[in-house]
Amino acid sequence: MSGIRPTGFLHLGNYFGALRNYVRMQEEYECYFMVADLHSLTTHPDTKELKDNVHRVLSENIACGLDPDKVALFCQSHVYETSELYLYLNMLAYKGELEKTVTFKDKVRQHPDNVNAGLLTYPVLQAADILLHRALLVPVGKDQEQHLEMARNFANRFNHRYGDIFPEPQAFNYGSELIKVPSLDGGGKMSKSENQNATLYLSDDDDLIHKKIMKTKTDAGPTAPNSPKPDYIENIFLLMKLVSSEEVIKNFEQAYNDCTIRYGDMKKQLAEDMVSFIAPIRAKAEAIRADKTYLKEVMEKGAEKARQSARATMGKVREAMGLNYY
Ligand code: AMP
Repeated sequence: MSGIRPTGFLHLGNYFGALRNYVRMQEEYECYFMVADLHSLTTHPDTKELKDNVHRVLSENIACGLDPDKVALFCQSHVYETSELYLYLNMLAYKGELEKTVTFKDKVRQHPDNVNAGLLTYPVLQAADILLHRALLVPVGKDQEQHLEMARNFANRFNHRYGDIFPEPQAFNYGSELIKVPSLDGGGKMSKSENQNATLYLSDDDDLIHKKIMKTKTDAGPTAPNSPKPDYIENIFLLMKLVSSEEVIKNFEQAYNDCTIRYGDMKKQLAEDMVSFIAPIRAKAEAIRADKTYLKEVMEKGAEKARQSARATMGKVREAMGLNYY
């Protein structure tokens, strides 16, 4: 189970942190993937662009390889049971622990005039999304590690108080560790709403991809063989590892180590490989986004599958909590 907020355009971080794993998981597991529209309301109360953004995220999910016939691909707000479980879990979440959450503190800094209770209880809503399907694996990027730990705490508290209903969900990635795709300026992570010039979006056109990559910081190059790489150079190599061939990476590593590297050439190569990666996804997503009838069908089918699983869990939850009066 996992989700992506419809707060803007999907980017390389969403792809490598989350979507790439979704696409592999759909072949092996029973999967629930959603557009997290309720979560987006905690920071984006203006809903003028919400519908477009929901359509965009859905289309980009499918363009990246998710198959709505294999997984439940749905919209969070279409599954009303989420709000019910969120309410119950809120009674098991403590103000102190919520205030200490790193993402909460970040968001308070970014939106000081809208520190609402929904923002504070964001990890509780996320736990509800996951526990609603009694999910075991949650494919997410590194930024979500703490939220997953909180979801396990809420699940354990529930089980302890009311009986064993929820398994412990784990953050999941097919690689050995969770991923963080850095922003192009090296000053943080790629993001839907911040750092837009330093983020590569799956909707960026070829020209923009070239421009963003060519602008990344480099220097005159290493002066001694086998020098350690500065962070901003390490970042370029890291991005290359996501989209370029092993051969290309090996050549640039070698050139770095023997001090013959030309960063202009390296960035040009990265830009070309990035275009080859992004362009087909962009074209596919645009075509899907234009087909509103198809998107409606996907959402309806996804919501039905998700509701079925949610209803089953909530039956168990109400029973365990003693909310069964006849
Ligand atoms: P969000 O964009 O915050 O709705 O996150 C959707 C998914 O993408 C989550 O699983 C995040 O962990 C993941 N994600 C977002 N940004 C990055 C990034 N820069 N690197 C890796 N994963 C990311």
